[in-house]
Amino acid sequence: MDGIDGRVRNAVDVWLRWLPRWQIGTARPRTRICRRCTGSPIAAAAGFGPDVPHPVQHALIGRMSAIVEDAVDDYTAKNLPLLQRELERAAARKRRSGYQPAEGLSPEFQGLDIDPQPEPGEPFLFTLGELAGTGADAQEPREPLSDEAKAALRHEIELSDEA
Ligand SMILES: [Zn+2]
Repeated sequence: MDGIDGRVRNAVDVWLRWLPRWQIGTARPRTRICRRCTGSPIAAAAGFGPDVPHPVQHALIGRMSAIVEDAVDDYTAKNLPLLQRELERAAARKRRSGYQPAEGLSPEFQGLDIDPQPEPGEPFLFTLGELAGTGADAQEPREPLSDEAKAALRHEIELSDEA
């Protein structure tokens, strides 16, 4: 496995190769603020100013965020077993939750609106948002956590916040 430095370099290379293929005409204007990019320390570190189009920023910030999230996952798996188990349970529930249009997209598209803005008077036949959850398996009810387990989990979450 590459170190974080190697992964960051690689992600920047991929982004630089993608950049010339991006065209301003292909970008729809956003009407909502992007939670991933707004105020992102990655945007500041990359030196993006307000003149850099959002899709260009989003593509790099998405790739960098994925590396950070993987590092957090690694840390959690190694050091925070209870939290890890809760995350695995949540992931298992998600796998049974049917079609999820926002899952598994390449970084350029993650965290963006899944459907375009409808034109006034021209409603869509269907939207991907409406299809979310189709084909879901029945979910097993969550087993409740004991008070001890809750306290231990809270402790691990505090540790993870400090890490
Ligand atoms: Zn964004």
